[in-house]
Amino acid sequence: MIPGLQPVPLSQLKAHLGAKRWIIDGFLDDLESLTPVKGEVSAEHKGNFLLVKGKAYTLVILRCDRCLCDFKTNLDFNCEEIISLNENENNNRQRREDRKSREIDSFVESIDPYANFEPERWIFEQLSLNIPISKSCSNECLEAYSSKYNDLNKLKTEKNNIDPRWNKLNEIRNL
Ligand SMILES: [Zn+2]
Repeated sequence: MIPGLQPVPLSQLKAHLGAKRWIIDGFLDDLESLTPVKGEVSAEHKGNFLLVKGKAYTLVILRCDRCLCDFKTNLDFNCEEIISLNENENNNRQRREDRKSREIDSFVESIDPYANFEPERWIFEQLSLNIPISKSCSNECLEAYSSKYNDLNKLKTEKNNIDPRWNKLNEIRNL
């Protein structure tokens, strides 16, 4: 836990005049980094939503997808997010259940107005979202990896373009 980033009850943020600010300087429990995460976060209670803004950076070690070498890279974010606060807890629960039953994947963050805002959790999520999906230690690896990926895609397409005479057989196989 980064000192000073303890969860804050939303009721406390509501009573706070304007935005509450935190300075970030420390290591996150759930994200290994070479240097402390440095930056700032602010949260402002706007009645039915919470406006969270923040920026931070750190240095992390990632593993290259191609050569499997570890390499250092900057990880940062600079963003703002609106988190909706559902005034009625019963409604909130109902909505969650509705969502579950309909399996809607809509990604509107919402939290219970009686819950806490966790600045450290929020920073962790923003940094995690910015970890690149394809990791390359150098331009050389990036190019080699993407051409390999293209080759794979080509292979897949070729596989799908099979001799039309086999179609009947495929139909039978898929029955
Ligand atoms: Zn590499």
